[in-house]
Amino acid sequence: MTSVIPGPLQQPLRFGVYTGIELELQAADEVPTAARLGLEPPRFCGQCGRRMVVQVRPDGWDARCSRHGTVDSSELGQR
Ligand SMILES: [Zn+2]
Repeated sequence: MTSVIPGPLQQPLRFGVYTGIELELQAADEVPTAARLGLEPPRFCGQCGRRMVVQVRPDGWDARCSRHGTVDSSELGQR
């Protein structure tokens, strides 16, 4: 049990979760302001850059990568 798959938002991230662009290539101003404020759910997996399936709920959101699993806003400690 040594190969644990990191979750979509687990650090270190390789891709911008709002842009799907490799972080090395991503300019800071390409991230929408609302996203930087934590008001929007991530749209892309931070591990592989795949577009995630996002569901917005009244109390938050969850986002699923087919490879890296699901991340839920309630797990992030955000309000
Ligand atoms: Zn992924």
